[in-house]
Amino acid sequence: MNLWRREYHIPCPYSGCGAKLTLHETILEEIILGLAKSTKDVADIGLLCPACKGIFVFERDRLPDILAVPAPAIPQTAPQLFFLGARCDKSNCEVRRIFVAVRPAEDTKEQIAEEWQTWRVDDALCPNYHRLLHAFWFV
Ligand SMILES: [Zn+2]
Ligand SMILES: [Zn+2]
Repeated sequence: MNLWRREYHIPCPYSGCGAKLTLHETILEEIILGLAKSTKDVADIGLLCPACKGIFVFERDRLPDILAVPAPAIPQTAPQLFFLGARCDKSNCEVRRIFVAVRPAEDTKEQIAEEWQTWRVDDALCPNYHRLLHAFWFV
């Protein structure tokens, strides 16, 4: 048996972080489907970096090449996806930045909400290029 899995390794743009988010190809599909439910802006994918807790956005057109990596010997539980919205600093702006926190299956909304104050927003903008505020909610 040849056990491989196909993953995207997406680099976090925050300076000093250097983490790469590992997204299995089916998880990325799930993210795109989930985003399409709450935003028209599916050309961009907003993510929360699990390492530095920075929110960032990357263009779907610029996805890194998919990698085939050996599957782990012990099957891993699929992560849980939390779709969140972030407000921007222009009160008259209609669009919101929707982004995804990819978390272990056992994480709860309460745990995530407790972290909100520590999340970084400097490298993410709303779809109209406004800066984001520390104002999040679950979508
Ligand atoms: Zn990061
Ligand atoms: Zn805006």
